Amino acid sequence: MIAKTTHIKDTKNLVGSLPAIRYMKPKYLYIAMANARCPKADLYIKEGDHVNSFQVIGMRHGPFFEQPIHATCSGTYVGLEKHYHRNGKLTDFIKIKNDFKETFDHSVKERSDEEIKALTKEEMTEIIKDCANVGLGGSSFPTFVKFQTDKPIKMILVNGIECEPYITADHRLMLEFPYRVMEAIKYTMQAFNCKQAKICIKSKYTDIKRVYEQVLKEYVGSGIELCCVGNYYPQGWEVEMIRNATGIQLKPGELPSSQGIIDFNVSTMVGIYKAIKYNMPVIKRFITVTGDGINYPKNFRVKVGTSIKELIPLCGGYKHPDKEKVFILGGPMMGASVPSDDCIITKTVTSIIILDKVNYVEEPCVRCGSCVLSCPVHLEPVQIMNAVKANDKERIKKLNPLKCVECGLCAYSCTSKINVTDYVKRAKIFAKL
Ligand code: SF4
Ligand code: SF4
Repeated sequence: MIAKTTHIKDTKNLVGSLPAIRYMKPKYLYIAMANARCPKADLYIKEGDHVNSFQVIGMRHGPFFEQPIHATCSGTYVGLEKHYHRNGKLTDFIKIKNDFKETFDHSVKERSDEEIKALTKEEMTEIIKDCANVGLGGSSFPTFVKFQTDKPIKMILVNGIECEPYITADHRLMLEFPYRVMEAIKYTMQAFNCKQAKICIKSKYTDIKRVYEQVLKEYVGSGIELCCVGNYYPQGWEVEMIRNATGIQLKPGELPSSQGIIDFNVSTMVGIYKAIKYNMPVIKRFITVTGDGINYPKNFRVKVGTSIKELIPLCGGYKHPDKEKVFILGGPMMGASVPSDDCIITKTVTSIIILDKVNYVEEPCVRCGSCVLSCPVHLEPVQIMNAVKANDKERIKKLNPLKCVECGLCAYSCTSKINVTDYVKRAKIFAKL
């Protein structure tokens, strides 16, 4: 989803400087049955059953892997209910009535430093798989699959760049949990027998820089360093981050591991910390609630499964309740829009952006070339759009739309307000046929 952002007043710096509000006690929590990577699921509980926090209550099934579903509070299973998911679709959610007792599943246990030092890469991979860790920057890519690489890893990159406008959830996590980030890096370096790691942040984040320069004094000789990169979008795209942090330019489709690099989003790292240290799946996350449509944009730390509706009053409510709104789950460039605030915070929801709806009228292409100039993977979005309009499949394939990383810049930069990215996405589907 590209939010047409000509009216965006980005409150990013201001919101990122305020501590996140802890909101941990919603009456009901909602856990998605299925997701895009695992479209089928089995439920292990029946209505009226009591569940504990972190308990496995079901299993999602995808074409390549399975993913346990964990309860994010203790309480009673009420039934299934439909709400909007991160993918923009109405989806079945497992509704749990919170008993506010926070009783834990028996699988949660603290590992001592000695126990952790004795873990092999394979053992860590199993722990991370059982805890259903995924890319929390929004990719939802299963973390255990990254751990399964057999390529020798020379460097770990931690992505704390958070380059899309508006979002400051990772910013707060980095400021509020620096030791969890550092310990997770140590565990990951141990797993890969890797001697070097870089924490990548935007160079303008001087507050994060100050904190980590201080914390790194306690990790002298660890091989971990801070790496300040560019302040632009899409600096957080892994290809761009790797290029700036290491000088290595990945070829299209090339995996970072083939160059001895593995990268994780910083929230994913904290998920790894919880899994290895406490055998805990991710049941909480930082989220930014922002946009011109609400009174007081804020960061929150919430339980996975919290309804966005509960956070709106804590942001002072809607600025213009009578105006139609646009709700974007994720960043304005790559997020998915949903038609209402009846949506749930899943593990990969980094933010919700609420904007008063502006009806843009698409104008004819003026062949200005802005979309071509803005494309980070050197595609010709306008040509792809024309080929899609002409239904010319041969031409679509020649224009290589599969290289598109869906950054949204072609639509953002279009002088005629054409959603060019949408055409490129359609071209990708054609190219795969
Ligand atoms: S969305 Fe795709 S085609 Fe458009 S600028 Fe980004 S990478 Fe290029
Ligand atoms: S940016 Fe828009 S108007 Fe300009 S060439 Fe691309 S599609 Fe056409």
